[in-house]
Amino acid sequence: MKTTQEQNFERELPAGYKQALYINAKDPKFGIIFNLIALAVLAVVMVLAFLALRLGGKLSSDILDMEYAQFLIAYAVFFGSMIGYIVLHELVHGAAYKSLTGEKLTFGLSWSCAFCGVPNIYTYRRTALISVVAPFALFTLLMLPLLIILYFVSPLYFLIVAFIFGLHVGGCSGDLYVLYLLTARFKDKKVLMRDTGPEQFFYVPEGENSISLES
Ligand SMILES: [Zn+2]
Repeated sequence: MKTTQEQNFERELPAGYKQALYINAKDPKFGIIFNLIALAVLAVVMVLAFLALRLGGKLSSDILDMEYAQFLIAYAVFFGSMIGYIVLHELVHGAAYKSLTGEKLTFGLSWSCAFCGVPNIYTYRRTALISVVAPFALFTLLMLPLLIILYFVSPLYFLIVAFIFGLHVGGCSGDLYVLYLLTARFKDKKVLMRDTGPEQFFYVPEGENSISLES
């Protein structure tokens, strides 16, 4: 009898499954494309943030008019939250995978991305979906209200959090691509995904069209 967690994955690829797709964030083409997308998203978010301040009459030279100590604090907050965000993003992936499977996680950093995976098992689609989208959903829900508050309270910290938000949305482009694959292409709940962190392998039961884009 399988436990609730064990119902979310398989230890071995069941008979009759075949690999339908393999993606690798360390692949040069994939890594470069998704980092360019991330940079473009960050640029768009910052343009929108400056526009919002401008339209609200909050963009003036006194944004940077502060004591040296305040400047150092803002700088520390900026770098601290950037590093903190990346670590927390991966920990949220890990917390989701851990609570749904109880299995051993892997964390790491490559030239193209930070990553978290659960490399020794094949997770069912629902588990993969929740774990992949968890950081995007959680941090978007946390940062949007914070941005609205900071817009009225502090233009400087609004810009700092806007930068982290841009980094967040852009940095989630790989996760959102996997979300797209799991919602648009691999809709069968029997679909299995193996996530080593930078790599994802998708498996479908035999007989199902691996390259189909229809429902
Ligand atoms: Zn992620």
